[in-house]
Amino acid sequence: MNQIVTPATPQHAPMTQFPVAGNILQVGGQPLTDIARQVRQHHGQRPFYVYDREVMNRQVQALREQLPAGIHLHYAMKANPMPEVVSHLAAQTDGLDVASHGELAIALGTGIDPASISFAGPGKSSADLRAAIEAGVIINMESSGELQRITELALQMGIRPKVAVRVNPDFELKTSGMKMSGGPKPFGVDAEQVPAMLQDIHQRELDFMGFHIFCGSQNLKSDAIIDAQNKTFALARQLADAAPMPLRWLNIGGGLGIPYFPGEQRLALGAIGENLQSLLEHYSDITCDSEVVMELGRYLVAEAGLYVCEVIDVKSSRGETFVVTNGGLHHHLAASGNFGQVIRKNYPVCVANRMTSDSMETVSVVGPLCTPLDILASKMTLPKVQPGDLIALYQSGAYGFSASPQNFLGHPEAIELVV
Ligand SMILES: *Cc1c(COP(=O)(O)O)cnc(C)c1O
Repeated sequence: MNQIVTPATPQHAPMTQFPVAGNILQVGGQPLTDIARQVRQHHGQRPFYVYDREVMNRQVQALREQLPAGIHLHYAMKANPMPEVVSHLAAQTDGLDVASHGELAIALGTGIDPASISFAGPGKSSADLRAAIEAGVIINMESSGELQRITELALQMGIRPKVAVRVNPDFELKTSGMKMSGGPKPFGVDAEQVPAMLQDIHQRELDFMGFHIFCGSQNLKSDAIIDAQNKTFALARQLADAAPMPLRWLNIGGGLGIPYFPGEQRLALGAIGENLQSLLEHYSDITCDSEVVMELGRYLVAEAGLYVCEVIDVKSSRGETFVVTNGGLHHHLAASGNFGQVIRKNYPVCVANRMTSDSMETVSVVGPLCTPLDILASKMTLPKVQPGDLIALYQSGAYGFSASPQNFLGHPEAIELVV
């Protein structure tokens, strides 16, 4: 007889970053129910994001312990531009990476040395470039048109700008959530065009710093990251050899992912750290006099954040139970599955005031919007809830508040707080 083998249902990686006491999730040393009460006193009944400084510190510490000391850590602000978060991470890391004039203003507001800020992004306007030149940050140039405009502005302003070339390599970061290199891309200058651009930079007497080589994002396979880093260093050497001026700065990108969906595991940093150490040694001719930077967004902040909303109603429809909350895709587009996902999968979710229960139920958690896209959890087994309970979504510290269409349908904005 054939045996029927049921494959194990993939589970979410354990979410252990916040402790539980008295059956309630604790954030920043307080029960989440207390934080929710404070939010309600000040703002009325509104969903909120809460970011825990201690969890951010632990992520930075894990990187510092496992990566070579020669690697500088930058925070890529796009992941979470809340000024309090940026200030906190600016103090913990070695620099900030910005991708707009607005982010630049927040970065400068932290008071860090402008020379440890770099500015990437296709489509920087002349106003953006002027602000960057004036501030003295490193501008990652994305095209020869941008080089031309920087040269003209620099002449007008009488300032010698710090520039780097963002390179679009001829390889990609395999199995990445979002690929941003290899093939035709709007980002950076194709590697084969870089040598000619370097001659141009030299003639124009700009302050050349080095290269920015960013391949992709949200990768959970250390082998793929190691492979991309090997190719990144090889490319940097090849381009440095073609440069008439020395390499002083090399941004090797990041791409470190965090587990969001069932079956995903936390990335092991050990092998990545060891490989980086041998790369720094092998390429010491180009790295000994230059700053080697890794830029990380979500890895530093996503695990530290929760999105919290309140149950408004519980209803059943033709055999399924729907938990309707006051929060949804307008605050958290990524968790709804509408931010770059091909097949919708659930973020890890809990009932923050009922962490365990004898009475479990399979439900879908939905938001208040009149669209079937407004799903926070689909057919998940959770403790049985009632109106007033708090639904919390883990892994929500990055690409949440600022990456969501808050005006869609005119519900109140979410609140953000740091503990
Ligand atoms: C988005 C982005 C990052 C941050 O990516 P994470 O996945 O959040 O780490 C870093 N660098 C550049 C150039 C980016 O566009």
